[in-house]
Formats: sequence, C-alpha cells, structure tokens
Amino acid sequence: MALIVQKYGGTSVGSTERIAVVAEKIIAARNQGHDLIVVVSAMSGETNRLVALAKSVADPPSPREFDVLLATGEQVTISLLSMALEARGCPARSYTGAQVHILTDSAYTKARILDIDDQRIHADLAQGKVVVVAGFQGIDAEGNITTLGRGGSDTTAVALATALKADECQIYTDVDGVYTTDPRVVPEARRLDKICFEEMLEMASLGSKVLQIRSVEFASKYKVPLRVLSSFTEEGQGTLIAPEDKTMEQALISGIAFNRDEAKLTLLGVQDSPGFAAQILGHIADANIEVDMIIQNIGADGTTDFTFTVHRNDYQTAFSILQNHAKDLGVREVQGDEHIVKISLVGVGMRSHAGIASTMFKALAEEGINIQMISTSEIKISVVLHEKYLELGVRTLHAAFNLEQAA
Ligand code: ADP
Ligand code: ASP
Ligand code: MG
Repeated sequence: MALIVQKYGGTSVGSTERIAVVAEKIIAARNQGHDLIVVVSAMSGETNRLVALAKSVADPPSPREFDVLLATGEQVTISLLSMALEARGCPARSYTGAQVHILTDSAYTKARILDIDDQRIHADLAQGKVVVVAGFQGIDAEGNITTLGRGGSDTTAVALATALKADECQIYTDVDGVYTTDPRVVPEARRLDKICFEEMLEMASLGSKVLQIRSVEFASKYKVPLRVLSSFTEEGQGTLIAPEDKTMEQALISGIAFNRDEAKLTLLGVQDSPGFAAQILGHIADANIEVDMIIQNIGADGTTDFTFTVHRNDYQTAFSILQNHAKDLGVREVQGDEHIVKISLVGVGMRSHAGIASTMFKALAEEGINIQMISTSEIKISVVLHEKYLELGVRTLHAAFNLEQAA
C-alpha cells in the first residue's frame, strides 16, 4: 500500500464525462489499496476565460482581485470530482488551497509555496477518504488568496507529495508521457521512459509546458519520484522523472524544447564603455522584467550593438523604457521584434560530446533557416529564429538527431 498524489490537468477534467472517467480511475487506484490525494486543475479553457473576464473589466486588473477570481476555476472541479466520487460510494473530501493552508508568499499571480499543513489531510486519509485539493492556489500569511502561475497545479501536486512524503506523484494529462518534443508539432516524437531532473528542468524552463518548472524544481530538491501519464488511455508506464542514472548510456540529445513567448530588443550604435550593460539592464530590472538571452557585438566603427530577449508580455514596457532612456544612454536606435521563437536542444550527453552545435547549425542552414541568436550551456543549445520557422526548425532538428529512434 502506497500514498500516491495524483494530479489531473484541465483537459482531463474538461467535462462532467471526463470527471466521471477520472473518478473511476481514482477508485481503481484506491481498490488496489492505495491512499490517494488528488489535485485538480480548472476545467480546460476556464482559467483563460477568467483571465479575459478580468481584463475586460480592468487592464491590468488589481493583482489581489485577479487571484481571487482565477482561484475560482479549481473550486468548481474539486467539488464536482468529490461529488462524483461520493456518488460512486467512495468517501471523498474537497479542499481549497486556503482550507489546507497551502501557505505562500504574497507575490500575486506567481506566488511560491512556503508550507503546507498536513494535519487535516492525514486525518481524512486515516478515515479512508480520498482528499481532493484545488491546484494552483494558496493563501498568504495575511489570509489573501494567491495563485502560483499558469500551470501551477503541477507544483501544488509535487508540494503536497513532498509535505506528505508520498511514494509517488503522478501527473495525469492529455499525453502519455514526456516526449522528445511536443508531439503536436512533431508527430514522430518519441515518448521517453525516463528523463532525469536536470534535463526536465531545462526542458521546462526552455518552454516545454508539459510540467511547470517549479514542480520539477520541487521534485528534484526533495527527490519526489514524478511520473507523467495520460488520463485518456489505459495505464501505460508514462515517463518517470528521476535522478540521473550515471550507469546508463546517455543519449546525446534527450529532447527539443521551444518557446513562442519571447521578444527581442536591440540597441544600435552604443558607445563601447564600461558599465553600459549594467545601466540598460538596470532600467529593465527596475521594471521587474526578466531578461533571457543577451548578445553584445562590437561593430567595425567601434560602437556596440546590444540585443536581449524578454517575455512577450513585457515587450511593450521594455521597448518604452529603452526609448525613454535612449538619449541618456547614447544609443543611436532602438529596434524590437516580437516575431521570434527560441528552439533548444537539451541533453546531459552533450557534456561529453563535441560537434552538436555544428550539426544543429548545418541542419538549419540546409533548410534556409537563419539563426538570429545563439546561447549555450553545459547541457543545452538554444537558437532564436523567425517565428515562421518554428515547426520546420523543430522537425528538422528532430530528424537531424534521429530523435524518433531510441538511443
Ligand atoms: P494539463 O492541462 O494536463 O496540465 P498541459 O497542456 O499543461 O496539460 O501539458 C500537456 C501538453 O504539453 C501536451 O498536450 C503537449 O502538447 C505539451 N507538450 C509540450 N512539450 C511536450 C513534451 N516534450 N512532451 C509531451 N508533451 C509536451
Ligand atoms: N488552471 C491553471 C492554468 O490554467 C493551473 C493549471 O492548470 O495548472 O494555468
Ligand atoms: Mg499543465
């Protein structure tokens, strides 16, 4: 008998029929003798609907009230699922984040979990109940409702698994595991039986939305075995995310991630003097905008071109900041481009192999795809391209590295 945390995402609970299917799955696991804590997302499309509602009233909406609104989506699904379980003779109890004291900081819309009160959950489990908890939400020390950022139900599930020392955290979604890349873009993508935390962290941070990055950080830090499974198919083994297995032969590349959410800003004709980068990025940081890739290049005339990327949501603000400071920064021109994507190759096998970058660049060149920016780390290479090349670029690289075949 094990303690298992299961999380069902938006499409998995997207209709009352789907909720009935999920209830049956939970009951089947319980009949095998397991104790179950179940985390659910809002019904698919609901959080987007709530975001649009808020923005139609005030743009930007007050962050506190925005979180009060967004948290309602998950309250619908915890109650419906608990009703469906009880109607099938399975004792269940639903809880909002506040009710089980998922204590967070006060950073509305991107709060971090600080602590979870496990007493109530333990008491229910001891009475044989299935505990159903609303994902994506918590409460701060002052009692305000907070949310954890889009995709945050994954993090709720892993945090509960950590707090209650669960044997496994199972993330049920609409794909039957983590693939070499998004199977919606490359139908030949291959499901991975296993991926290590380090690679999954890179995949998530570079744009693979199958798991929220914080959930992987949590699982990695507290060594919670994490498994991604489909709620739409009969039980397969899914993908296990676990510590790196150093005895196994490493695949060169494990996966390809991409991100459509970035935009690029360029300052042309900058005087090349110490402190310039700190000055520009200081203005950007003051506006709480995170910078991703940065390139600086000295031109033939001795001036510098400085390019960096930010989240598309921050693009307009960043552009205005640069224009407002262009004169005092001594910049000739500010340019911006919202039509970019970032594609990244990820694999711990890269540490010990040379030549991956050249294979990547050659494959892209053969398709006539121009690379605008490049960045590398020990286990990843990222390139920025025009957005029209996203699908072609990902498919080309998937084929170039034979990712459809097992290593
Ligand atoms: P949920 O609503 O269950 O949380 P998400 O939409 O957040 O589901 O995540 C599942 C989706 O992630 C899949 O439908 C798939 O399109 C996408 N995805 C992106 N990259 C990958 C990948 N490498 N492997 C599997 N799915 C991926
Ligand atoms: N409902 C939230 C979202 O759509 C949280 C989640 O699904 O994980 O982002
Ligand atoms: Mg998700």
